Amino acid sequence: MDCIFCGIVAGEVPSTRVYEDEKTYAFMDIAPATEGHLLVVPKRHAKNLLEIPADDLAAVVATGRRLAQRQVDVLGADGVNLMNSCGEQAWQTVFHFHLHVIPRYADHARDTMTLPWDPTPGDLEQIGATGARLAQ
Ligand code: AMP
Ligand code: ZN
Repeated sequence: MDCIFCGIVAGEVPSTRVYEDEKTYAFMDIAPATEGHLLVVPKRHAKNLLEIPADDLAAVVATGRRLAQRQVDVLGADGVNLMNSCGEQAWQTVFHFHLHVIPRYADHARDTMTLPWDPTPGDLEQIGATGARLAQ
C-alpha cells in the first residue's frame, strides 16, 4: 500500500519522532501551523475517523493528550487545539488517520491561526430540527 504515514511508522520515510508506544506514533508536522505542531497516528493503517477501530482511536487521543501536556510544559503553550479532518471536503490530504496537536500561544508573533468559521447566531428552529434528526 502506498501510504506515506505507514512509511513513517515503518521507518522507511524520515520523520522527527516525538513519542511512540504499542499502538501509536507521533511526529512533527513538516508544515506546522504553529511552533510545535505535531501529528499522532495509529500504527495500524486506517483511512479516517469513520474507519479507525475504537481502541486505536482511544490510544491516539490518549497520546495526543500526553503530548499536549508536553507542549504546555516544554514550549510554554497557552492552549492546544486537537484537530482531525475526515474526508477531502473537510481538508483531509493524507488518508491515514491523524490527529493534529497544535500548541497555541497568546504571543501573536508565535501564533497567527484564526478560527475557520465566523460564529454568528443561527436559526434556532433549524438548529433544533437538525439536532432532532441527528438524535434518532
Ligand atoms: P490533513 O490535511 O489533515 O490530512 O493533514 C496532513 C498533514 O500532514 C499536513 O499538516 C502536512 O503538513 C503533514 N504531512 C504531510 N506529509 C508529511 C511528512 N512526510 N512528515 C510530516 N508531516 C507531513
Ligand atoms: Zn497508512
